[in-house]
Amino acid sequence: MTRRPLVAGNWKMHGLRASLAEIEAMGVDYDAALRGRAELVVCPPATLVALARDIAVRAGLGLGAQDCHAEASGAHTGDISAEMLRDAGAAYVIVGHSERRADHGETNADVEAKAAAALRAGLAPIICVGETRAEREAGEALAVVAAQIEGSLPSDAPAQIVVAYEPVWAIGTGLTPTPQDVADMHAFARARIEARLGGGKGAHIRILYGGSVKPANARELLSVPNVDGALVGGASLGARDFMGVAAAY
Ligand code: PGA
Repeated sequence: MTRRPLVAGNWKMHGLRASLAEIEAMGVDYDAALRGRAELVVCPPATLVALARDIAVRAGLGLGAQDCHAEASGAHTGDISAEMLRDAGAAYVIVGHSERRADHGETNADVEAKAAAALRAGLAPIICVGETRAEREAGEALAVVAAQIEGSLPSDAPAQIVVAYEPVWAIGTGLTPTPQDVADMHAFARARIEARLGGGKGAHIRILYGGSVKPANARELLSVPNVDGALVGGASLGARDFMGVAAAY
Protein backbone atom coordinates (compact mmCIF):
# COMPACT_ATOMS: atom_id res chain seq x y z
CA MET A 1 0.00 0.00 0.00
CA THR A 2 1.61 3.28 -1.06
CA ARG A 3 0.42 6.32 0.78
CA ARG A 4 2.06 9.57 -0.36
CA PRO A 5 3.66 11.17 2.70
CA LEU A 6 2.14 14.49 3.73
CA VAL A 7 3.80 17.16 5.82
CA ALA A 8 1.28 19.81 6.86
CA GLY A 9 2.11 23.03 8.69
CA ASN A 10 -0.40 24.40 11.17
CA TRP A 11 0.38 28.07 11.73
CA LYS A 12 -2.35 28.40 14.40
CA MET A 13 -2.96 32.07 15.31
CA HIS A 14 0.35 33.24 13.92
CA GLY A 15 1.13 35.14 10.75
CA LEU A 16 0.71 38.53 9.16
CA ARG A 17 1.08 39.37 5.48
CA ALA A 18 4.86 39.62 5.92
CA SER A 19 4.84 35.92 6.86
CA LEU A 20 3.86 35.00 3.31
CA ALA A 21 7.56 35.37 2.47
CA GLU A 22 8.13 32.14 4.44
CA ILE A 23 5.81 30.24 2.08
CA GLU A 24 7.75 31.64 -0.85
CA ALA A 25 11.00 30.55 0.83
CA MET A 26 9.63 27.03 1.41
CA GLY A 27 9.26 26.71 -2.36
CA VAL A 28 13.01 27.25 -2.87
CA ASP A 29 13.85 23.93 -1.20
CA TYR A 30 10.75 22.10 -2.42
CA ASP A 31 12.42 20.82 -5.56
CA ALA A 32 11.13 18.22 -7.98
CA ALA A 33 12.89 15.39 -6.17
CA LEU A 34 11.32 16.23 -2.80
CA ARG A 35 7.93 16.78 -4.47
CA GLY A 36 8.23 13.26 -5.76
CA ARG A 37 8.72 11.95 -2.25
CA ALA A 38 6.29 14.02 -0.17
CA GLU A 39 3.37 16.41 -0.37
CA LEU A 40 3.71 19.67 1.55
CA VAL A 41 0.77 21.74 2.74
CA VAL A 42 0.69 24.94 4.72
CA CYS A 43 -2.32 26.01 6.80
CA PRO A 44 -2.04 29.71 7.60
CA PRO A 45 -4.73 31.65 9.48
CA ALA A 46 -7.90 32.29 7.47
CA THR A 47 -6.90 35.92 6.82
CA LEU A 48 -3.94 34.72 4.75
CA VAL A 49 -5.48 31.85 2.79
CA ALA A 50 -6.59 33.89 -0.23
CA LEU A 51 -3.40 35.94 -0.15
CA ALA A 52 -1.28 32.78 -0.01
CA ARG A 53 -2.95 31.05 -2.93
CA ASP A 54 -0.75 32.26 -5.79
CA ILE A 55 2.41 32.04 -3.69
CA ALA A 56 1.64 28.46 -2.69
CA VAL A 57 0.89 27.49 -6.29
CA ARG A 58 4.23 28.93 -7.42
CA ALA A 59 6.01 27.19 -4.54
CA GLY A 60 4.33 23.87 -5.38
CA LEU A 61 2.78 23.71 -1.91
CA GLY A 62 -0.77 22.79 -1.04
CA LEU A 63 -2.88 25.19 0.97
CA GLY A 64 -5.15 24.46 3.90
CA ALA A 65 -7.12 26.20 6.62
CA GLN A 66 -7.45 25.44 10.33
CA ASP A 67 -11.19 25.14 10.96
CA CYS A 68 -14.53 25.50 9.21
CA HIS A 69 -18.19 25.81 10.13
CA ALA A 70 -20.46 22.80 9.63
CA GLU A 71 -22.85 24.75 7.38
CA ALA A 72 -22.16 26.15 3.92
CA SER A 73 -23.58 29.60 4.76
CA GLY A 74 -25.91 31.20 7.25
CA ALA A 75 -26.36 33.55 10.20
CA HIS A 76 -23.13 32.65 12.02
CA THR A 77 -21.28 35.86 12.73
CA GLY A 78 -17.54 35.45 12.61
CA ASP A 79 -17.56 31.92 11.23
CA ILE A 80 -16.12 30.74 7.93
CA SER A 81 -17.52 27.90 5.85
CA ALA A 82 -15.62 25.18 4.04
CA GLU A 83 -17.08 26.51 0.79
CA MET A 84 -15.52 29.92 1.49
CA LEU A 85 -12.16 28.33 2.21
CA ARG A 86 -12.34 26.35 -0.99
CA ASP A 87 -13.23 29.54 -2.85
CA ALA A 88 -10.21 31.24 -1.26
CA GLY A 89 -7.91 28.53 -2.57
CA ALA A 90 -7.70 25.93 0.19
CA ALA A 91 -7.63 22.21 -0.60
CA TYR A 92 -7.39 21.01 3.00
CA VAL A 93 -8.87 22.03 6.32
CA ILE A 94 -7.82 20.91 9.81
CA VAL A 95 -10.83 19.95 11.94
CA GLY A 96 -11.04 18.88 15.56
CA HIS A 97 -7.62 20.15 16.60
CA SER A 98 -7.25 19.67 20.34
CA GLU A 99 -7.01 23.43 20.83
CA ARG A 100 -10.45 23.82 19.25
CA ARG A 101 -11.84 20.88 21.19
CA ALA A 102 -10.53 22.52 24.41
CA ASP A 103 -11.00 26.25 23.69
CA HIS A 104 -14.32 26.00 21.86
CA GLY A 105 -15.81 22.89 23.43
CA GLU A 106 -15.96 21.05 20.12
CA THR A 107 -17.32 17.54 20.53
CA ASN A 108 -16.73 14.51 18.32
CA ALA A 109 -20.14 15.17 16.75
CA ASP A 110 -19.15 18.77 15.96
CA VAL A 111 -15.92 17.56 14.39
CA GLU A 112 -17.75 14.94 12.32
CA ALA A 113 -20.15 17.62 11.04
CA LYS A 114 -17.26 19.89 10.12
CA ALA A 115 -15.44 17.06 8.35
CA ALA A 116 -18.61 16.26 6.40
CA ALA A 117 -18.99 19.93 5.45
CA ALA A 118 -15.39 20.01 4.27
CA LEU A 119 -15.97 16.96 2.07
CA ARG A 120 -19.16 18.47 0.61
CA ALA A 121 -17.18 21.60 -0.29
CA GLY A 122 -14.44 19.58 -1.98
CA LEU A 123 -11.86 19.98 0.78
CA ALA A 124 -9.93 17.12 2.35
CA PRO A 125 -10.36 17.32 6.13
CA ILE A 126 -7.36 16.65 8.36
CA ILE A 127 -9.20 15.19 11.36
CA CYS A 128 -7.28 15.45 14.63
CA VAL A 129 -7.44 12.97 17.49
CA GLY A 130 -5.29 12.41 20.57
CA GLU A 131 -5.36 11.83 24.28
CA THR A 132 -4.51 14.21 27.12
CA ARG A 133 -1.74 13.53 29.61
CA ALA A 134 -4.28 12.52 32.28
CA GLU A 135 -5.94 10.10 29.86
CA ARG A 136 -2.60 8.53 28.96
CA GLU A 137 -1.59 8.21 32.61
CA ALA A 138 -4.93 6.58 33.36
CA GLY A 139 -4.26 4.01 30.63
CA GLU A 140 -7.11 5.35 28.50
CA ALA A 141 -5.18 6.60 25.47
CA LEU A 142 -6.33 3.84 23.11
CA ALA A 143 -9.94 4.05 24.26
CA VAL A 144 -10.01 7.84 23.85
CA VAL A 145 -8.56 7.70 20.35
CA ALA A 146 -10.93 4.88 19.40
CA ALA A 147 -13.91 6.95 20.53
CA GLN A 148 -12.64 10.03 18.68
CA ILE A 149 -12.19 8.06 15.46
CA GLU A 150 -15.61 6.48 15.82
CA GLY A 151 -17.24 9.82 16.60
CA SER A 152 -15.31 12.30 14.44
CA LEU A 153 -14.97 10.53 11.07
CA PRO A 154 -18.07 10.71 8.86
CA SER A 155 -19.06 7.07 8.34
CA ASP A 156 -19.12 7.50 4.56
CA ALA A 157 -15.84 9.42 4.36
CA PRO A 158 -13.68 8.64 1.32
CA ALA A 159 -10.01 7.63 1.49
CA GLN A 160 -9.03 11.26 0.74
CA ILE A 161 -9.50 12.23 4.37
CA VAL A 162 -6.43 12.55 6.54
CA VAL A 163 -6.25 11.64 10.24
CA ALA A 164 -3.73 13.29 12.55
CA TYR A 165 -2.77 11.63 15.83
CA GLU A 166 -1.67 14.38 18.15
CA PRO A 167 -1.19 13.49 21.81
CA VAL A 168 -2.31 16.68 23.55
CA TRP A 169 0.60 16.51 26.01
CA ALA A 170 3.10 16.54 23.14
CA ILE A 171 1.73 19.69 21.47
CA GLY A 172 4.00 22.69 21.95
CA THR A 173 5.78 21.04 24.88
CA GLY A 174 8.90 19.59 23.29
CA LEU A 175 7.78 16.17 24.60
CA THR A 176 7.14 13.29 22.21
CA PRO A 177 5.98 9.72 22.65
CA THR A 178 8.52 6.98 22.06
CA PRO A 179 8.68 5.60 18.52
CA GLN A 180 7.18 2.37 19.91
CA ASP A 181 4.23 4.27 21.44
CA VAL A 182 3.69 6.06 18.12
CA ALA A 183 3.88 2.75 16.23
CA ASP A 184 1.37 1.13 18.58
CA MET A 185 -1.08 4.04 18.37
CA HIS A 186 -0.87 4.41 14.59
CA ALA A 187 -1.41 0.69 13.99
CA PHE A 188 -4.35 0.81 16.38
CA ALA A 189 -5.77 3.96 14.75
CA ARG A 190 -5.53 2.39 11.29
CA ALA A 191 -7.52 -0.62 12.48
CA ARG A 192 -10.14 1.64 14.09
CA ILE A 193 -10.39 3.73 10.90
CA GLU A 194 -11.03 0.55 8.91
CA ALA A 195 -13.62 -0.53 11.48
CA ARG A 196 -15.35 2.85 11.12
CA LEU A 197 -15.22 3.22 7.33
CA GLY A 198 -14.77 -0.29 5.95
CA GLY A 199 -14.10 -1.13 2.32
CA GLY A 200 -10.35 -1.27 2.82
CA LYS A 201 -10.15 2.52 3.22
CA GLY A 202 -8.14 2.12 6.40
CA ALA A 203 -5.17 0.99 4.35
CA HIS A 204 -5.31 4.06 2.08
CA ILE A 205 -5.90 6.85 4.59
CA ARG A 206 -2.86 8.81 5.66
CA ILE A 207 -2.30 9.05 9.39
CA LEU A 208 -0.05 11.93 10.43
CA TYR A 209 1.79 12.24 13.70
CA GLY A 210 1.67 15.67 15.37
CA GLY A 211 3.17 17.11 18.53
CA SER A 212 6.60 18.77 18.85
CA VAL A 213 7.83 17.56 15.46
CA LYS A 214 11.00 19.43 14.53
CA PRO A 215 13.97 18.87 12.22
CA ALA A 216 15.93 17.08 14.97
CA ASN A 217 13.31 14.38 15.60
CA ALA A 218 11.50 14.23 12.24
CA ARG A 219 13.53 11.40 10.78
CA GLU A 220 12.93 9.16 13.80
CA LEU A 221 9.19 9.90 14.07
CA LEU A 222 8.44 9.81 10.36
CA SER A 223 10.14 6.46 9.84
CA VAL A 224 7.76 4.75 12.27
CA PRO A 225 5.47 2.21 10.54
CA ASN A 226 1.99 3.59 9.78
CA VAL A 227 3.18 7.19 10.15
CA ASP A 228 2.41 8.83 6.81
CA GLY A 229 3.62 12.31 7.60
CA ALA A 230 3.45 15.04 10.18
CA LEU A 231 1.22 17.85 11.36
CA VAL A 232 3.71 20.49 12.41
CA GLY A 233 2.92 23.51 14.58
CA GLY A 234 5.75 25.68 15.87
CA ALA A 235 8.33 24.31 13.44
CA SER A 236 6.13 25.19 10.44
CA LEU A 237 6.23 28.94 10.96
CA GLY A 238 9.61 29.38 9.34
CA ALA A 239 10.77 27.93 6.04
CA ARG A 240 14.06 26.69 7.49
CA ASP A 241 12.51 24.44 10.16
CA PHE A 242 9.56 23.34 8.05
CA MET A 243 11.80 22.27 5.21
CA GLY A 244 14.10 20.68 7.79
CA VAL A 245 11.16 18.47 8.83
CA ALA A 246 10.26 17.72 5.21
CA ALA A 247 13.87 16.71 4.58
CA ALA A 248 13.15 13.55 6.56
CA TYR A 249 11.68 12.28 3.26
P1 PGA B 1 3.57 21.66 17.71
O1 PGA B 1 2.01 21.70 17.34
O2 PGA B 1 4.29 21.10 16.52
O3 PGA B 1 3.92 23.11 17.96
O4 PGA B 1 3.72 20.81 18.91
C1 PGA B 1 1.42 20.66 16.59
C2 PGA B 1 -0.06 20.93 16.39
O5 PGA B 1 -0.71 21.40 17.34
O6 PGA B 1 -0.59 20.69 15.30
